[in-house]
Amino acid sequence: MRNAEYARLLAQTAALIEISGGNVYRVRAFQKAARTVEKLPISLEEAMNDGPLTRLPGIGKSIAADLVSIRDSGSFELYNELRQSLPDGILGLMQVQGLGPKKVKALYTHLEVGDLASLEKAVEDGTIAQLPGFGAKTQDNIRREIARLRRQAGRRPLPMAIMVAGPIVEALRAVEAVERAEVGGSVRRRRETVKDVDFVVASTDPEAVMEAFVNLDGVREVIARGSTKTSVILDGEFQADLRVVAPEAFGSALHHFTGSKEHHVELRKRAKSMGLKISEYGVFKVDAPEGTPPVASRTEQDVYAALGLAWIPPEMRENTGEIAAAEADALPSLLSAADIQGDLHMHTTASDGSHTIAQMAEAARDFGHKYIVITDHSQASVVANGLGPDRLRQHMIDIDAANEAIDGIEIKKGIEVDILKDGSLDLPGDLLDELDYVVGSVHASMKQDRQTMTERLLKAISSGHIHALGHPTGRLLGGRDPFEFDFQAIIQACLKHRVALEINASAGRMDLKDEHARLAAQAGVPLVINTDSHTTTGFAQIHFGVGIARRAWLEPHHVLNTLPWDEMMNWYKGA
Ligand SMILES: [Zn+2]
Ligand SMILES: [Zn+2]
Repeated sequence: MRNAEYARLLAQTAALIEISGGNVYRVRAFQKAARTVEKLPISLEEAMNDGPLTRLPGIGKSIAADLVSIRDSGSFELYNELRQSLPDGILGLMQVQGLGPKKVKALYTHLEVGDLASLEKAVEDGTIAQLPGFGAKTQDNIRREIARLRRQAGRRPLPMAIMVAGPIVEALRAVEAVERAEVGGSVRRRRETVKDVDFVVASTDPEAVMEAFVNLDGVREVIARGSTKTSVILDGEFQADLRVVAPEAFGSALHHFTGSKEHHVELRKRAKSMGLKISEYGVFKVDAPEGTPPVASRTEQDVYAALGLAWIPPEMRENTGEIAAAEADALPSLLSAADIQGDLHMHTTASDGSHTIAQMAEAARDFGHKYIVITDHSQASVVANGLGPDRLRQHMIDIDAANEAIDGIEIKKGIEVDILKDGSLDLPGDLLDELDYVVGSVHASMKQDRQTMTERLLKAISSGHIHALGHPTGRLLGGRDPFEFDFQAIIQACLKHRVALEINASAGRMDLKDEHARLAAQAGVPLVINTDSHTTTGFAQIHFGVGIARRAWLEPHHVLNTLPWDEMMNWYKGA
C-alpha cells in the first residue's frame, strides 16, 4: 500500500473522531500523523521494516500499531468502530467545499444529515440556513456544491489515478511473463478526470500475468478474475480492468482501450470508406474470408498506417481535428516534460511552503531544472503568511544569498502577488519591478460576477508589473468550480501587455484546462507550465501540466519556460 493510502485513512480517522464528538487531542494526533506519513520521503512499509515507527515525528505507540494493522488487514480497530457508529455517507459530505468536520458534526447531530442525499433534502427544506453557524449564504454554497458533485458523477481527478496506476504499470513490466504493459483509457489520454483505469498487457502466458496482477501492491480487491480480463479495485477505490492479449494484437488492443469513443467513431467511418473494419483484434479487410489475419494489429503505428494516418498521440485522440491533421501529415510535435527548463512558481518556508529556498533549489536542480523563481505569497494571503514589503526585501537578500551559495541552478527572485478585489496588486509596483519575475494570482473574493472578475483581471494584466497570471481560473480540480470571466478578453489583454497564462500543474488545480490552453496558444498568448510546489517533492507534478499542454496541442515554442532564462525574458521585452 502506498503512503498516501495510509495518510488518507489516518486523516479520515481524525475527521470521524471530530464528527463523533471525540477528544480534540486525539483528532490532532491523527492529523499530525497523517501529515508525517504523507511527507515521508521513503515508503512507510520500508520504514516499518527498519524499526519502530515511533521514531517518526507525531507517531506514538498507538498510531504505530494502527499503521501495522492497516498494512496487515487494510484497516484498524478504531477506524472500523467509527465507521460503524456513523452513517456510511458521512465521509462523502466532506467532499462538499466548506464542510469541514465541525459543520458535518452539526449537520449530523441537529439535522440527522448523514449523506449527500439527506444534505440535499435539508437544503431544499431550507433547514440548513437556520442552523447556528450556517445561514442562507452557506446554504446557497452547499446547493452549488451538490450540483457540482452531481456533474462530476463518479469522475475523479487524473492525478489520483496516475499516482495509483503508475506504480502498477511499472510492477507489471517487471513480471517475467509480461512483454509489454501500458495503462490505457482516459488515464493514457490524460483527461483531467477519470472514472476507472485500464491496463493492457502483451503476453503469451495470461494466467501468470493475472496471478501476478492480483497480488500486486495497490490491488486491493478482486471483483472478477478471468483468463483474458480481470477486474479489481485499486487503492483509492479506483476500479481497474486488466486485459491480456497476444503480443501480435497488442497495438490494436491498446488502441481500442485507449479511446476516446469520439475518436474511434471517426476512425471506423474512415476504415469503412476504405473497405476495412477495425476492432480490438486489429484492422481487417471487410471482404476477407473468416480466419484471415488482420492487415494490422501489432503496434498502434501499424493500425494508423493501415488507415493511411500517422500515429496520433493518445492525448490528442478526442476528435477535435487530429484525424485530418494526421492525414495531412501535419500533426504538431507535442511538447514533452524534458522540454521544460525551469519552474516559475513555488513557495518556501517564508510563506506557506514546507522547505527553505536552498532545499527547494537543490531539489529543483536534481529534478533537472536550469532555473527557478521563488514566488512566495504576498501580504494579503494572511493564512499563508504572505510577505509585506519589509519581509520581501529581506527575502530578496536571502534568495540572492542562496543563488550565490548553490551551484548548478539559477535562483531568481519573484513573488506570487495577490490580485486584490479591485484588480490592484498587493504590493507597490516599484517594489515588484525589482523582482525578476512576478506571478499575479487571485486568492480571495472569487465569487465576483463575470464582469467584475473580468475587469479585475484586466486591471492586473495591464498593470505592467506581472509576468504571468497564476492558476487563471481559480478552480480546484474535483473541488471548486472555476470563477467566471470573459476568457477572450483576458487573452487579448495578455497578448497586448505581454503577460503569459499559467498552466498550474499542481495536482489539486490543473488550471488552465486543456481547452483554454489551446485557445490561448491559438491566439498567440504564450503559456508557462509551473508546479506551484510547496514541498521539494512537488516538482514532478510538472507532468500533470505537460499532459494538459499535450491535450492542448502545444509544441515547445508555445511554452515560455522551455526556453533558457534570458531567451524567455526576451519575449517580455518584445524582442
Ligand atoms: Zn496561488
Ligand atoms: Zn502559489
